[in-house]
Amino acid sequence: MSELRPDWARGVRRIAVLTGAGISTDSGIPDYRGPDGIWTRDPKLANLFTLDNFLTDQEIRHRFWQRYLDHPAWRAQPNPAHQALADLSGGPAVRVLTQNIDGLHQRAGVPARKVLELHGSMHQTVCCGCGATTPTPEVLDRVRVGENDPSCVDCGGILKLAVILFGQQLDGEVIGKARAVAAASEVFLAVGSSLQVEPAASLCAVAVRGGAKLVVVNAAPTPYDEHAVEVIREPIGEVLPRICRDLLAG
Ligand code: ZN
Repeated sequence: MSELRPDWARGVRRIAVLTGAGISTDSGIPDYRGPDGIWTRDPKLANLFTLDNFLTDQEIRHRFWQRYLDHPAWRAQPNPAHQALADLSGGPAVRVLTQNIDGLHQRAGVPARKVLELHGSMHQTVCCGCGATTPTPEVLDRVRVGENDPSCVDCGGILKLAVILFGQQLDGEVIGKARAVAAASEVFLAVGSSLQVEPAASLCAVAVRGGAKLVVVNAAPTPYDEHAVEVIREPIGEVLPRICRDLLAG
């Protein structure tokens, strides 16, 4: 990317930003499919994150909660890329569609109403019986004092992070909103996502069909690079502040 402001960044009023795990690795949260990714290092871990296993196997739930007790996201701080998007969200119409469950966009200052969490949030826990939600730290406090498989205090149902597990349907309402945002966007920034899993891949397709200029910022090639007006391989924490400044310049 040259130092000159690119044409696609001029006069943009509606921006959709799709973010994946790559935007949070600078905050110390490992991605999934990169060289040090969670699935790359231990493919069997996917068992833990499969809905059927979680619902039917108490031991899986025990291991799942143990894993989240000490998750790096609890200590993570937003990095310059999150900050840049927060600054951008104060300007033109911006919506952030994120595959991440870490809540770092909101922590950086993007208003919650402008963030669509496609895979849910680890900060909330939901009861699979009655649907009640609880802040996850309260559930982890119970795990910490010896409850291996904490259950709902209201109905006794199984508690589960409010995130999408393998084999679980995406939230139709959230996805519907995300598609509408993608279709209406003039620039669609895809940041730190391999764009290989749904709904990320089809959101790119919706944006391109709707006439958006697609800009891909990702270390590795993606299936959508050929549809992009620009593909940027530079580190996200360096390049995103520059892109957001260019977009804010109007
Ligand atoms: Zn319940």
